[in-house]
Amino acid sequence: MKLSEVTLSHHYADLGDAFGTRIEPTPFQHPKLIHVNPAVLQLLGINKSEAQNPDWAQLGCGQKLFPGSRPFAMKYTGHQFGVYNPDLGDGRALLLGELENGGRRWELHLKGAGKTPYSRFGDGRAVLRSTIREYLAGEALTGLGIRSTRALSIVGSDEPVVREQIESGAMLIRVAETHVRFGHFEYFFYTKQLQALQQLIDFICRRFVTDATELPVGDQAEALLRFTTRRSAELVAGWQAVGFAHGVLNTDNMSIIGDTFDYGPYGFLDDYEPTFICNHSDHTGRYAFEQQPGVVLWNLNALAHAFSAFVSVEALRDCLEEFQPQLIDAYAAQMRRKLGLQTAEDGDQALCADLLQLLTDASADYTLFFRALAHYRGERPPAALRELMPPAQHDALERWLDHYDQRLAREHSDSRERNRAMLAANPKFVLRNYLAQKVIDAAAEGDYRPLQTMIELLQKPYDEHPQHETWAVAPPESGKHMPVSCSS
Ligand code: AMP
Ligand code: MG
Repeated sequence: MKLSEVTLSHHYADLGDAFGTRIEPTPFQHPKLIHVNPAVLQLLGINKSEAQNPDWAQLGCGQKLFPGSRPFAMKYTGHQFGVYNPDLGDGRALLLGELENGGRRWELHLKGAGKTPYSRFGDGRAVLRSTIREYLAGEALTGLGIRSTRALSIVGSDEPVVREQIESGAMLIRVAETHVRFGHFEYFFYTKQLQALQQLIDFICRRFVTDATELPVGDQAEALLRFTTRRSAELVAGWQAVGFAHGVLNTDNMSIIGDTFDYGPYGFLDDYEPTFICNHSDHTGRYAFEQQPGVVLWNLNALAHAFSAFVSVEALRDCLEEFQPQLIDAYAAQMRRKLGLQTAEDGDQALCADLLQLLTDASADYTLFFRALAHYRGERPPAALRELMPPAQHDALERWLDHYDQRLAREHSDSRERNRAMLAANPKFVLRNYLAQKVIDAAAEGDYRPLQTMIELLQKPYDEHPQHETWAVAPPESGKHMPVSCSS
């Protein structure tokens, strides 16, 4: 379809006044179109050639609305760093409406669109830096096969926005099958709006848990909790397997359908460091990389509590007990793929744990190590792998490789085939922080070419892209542990 043919519907806003506030965006005066994502256009059923349409500058900053659009700020609450906050909601983003394509519905959400009744002390804006980071992260995780919201467009402006320093404002259209968070359910539960809570459970079940559609609310809530538990277990297994740290796993940043949602000070691991904390205001490491599985379960507990209006505690506990085995299974399956194992053996978990311990001791680059392992054919000395760690670890590396060789021999692994499969499971390119910063610095100077290159690499992270070798190397020492501000 052409851009001019797009008409949005607005089922979420139609749920009623209890769900949020109808409000118009505050557009930029001088919008500057920075990027339109052809891959997302395709998802929406809009012709890719429409990426060139100049109307995006206005559509992407609220100067012009899509036909049928009914901008709406959603109300939600949530637990932030373990503490319930009743004052949350779309403080700077508006649900514009939704579009159906090929049986799937996609919501468009304009982030940075100005103040709403839920802005508290905020200015309702987003900055170019955080907008680019969100855009890149959506492509990075999608490219790695992990569920994520994505961005359709970025529009910049000359509007100054005050953060630690003065930055320029930007807006992003975020696309997701739903923007409903755990915190939406918590809001209705804690304010005792049980009719609205029931309505929301029914709304989400009709879209995503269709076999629960006709059930009574208690059974719907239980089915939904099972669904979200499974999706969340798969999600966090994916993060742990690729080395992604979200940074702010509050319940208002948790999608009910298990998308990676609300990007802030996230980070991909460079060196393998389980205690990695990407959010510099997370002083206790609540959201450190290795804490993520436990924190996601904590968040599921908070969601389950909101469902206790309709479901017995025993039944809720039953659902939550599925999390751990699902997480372990999903993570084990992904690590087997990364290691090129076709069968499952009892000792695999130990083999994997030993490797991760070695990488931790050696401060080895996580992505580079696995990519090099994808080329391994039993050579001694293992030169390409040795290069990635200090000499003090070389003996431990060879001891681990001996076990790995024995394991491969037991399943008669063919090295050529294994290498091919492993190259499709271990990315060459990940969204390292120093690379994101390089892209942002160039964009701030008006040069969007690095942004374009990064997007292309992240969309196909397993391909070689030989002309872009410099994007696949470990960061310089100064590029590790770059402070990432949580202001956005
Ligand atoms: P976040 O930290 O982005 O997950 O946001 C937490 C809460 O603060 C949400 O209710 C946001 O809508 C709100 N918020 C964040 N930044 C702003 C801003 N610049 N203006 C208004 N509200 C904001
Ligand atoms: Mg948030």
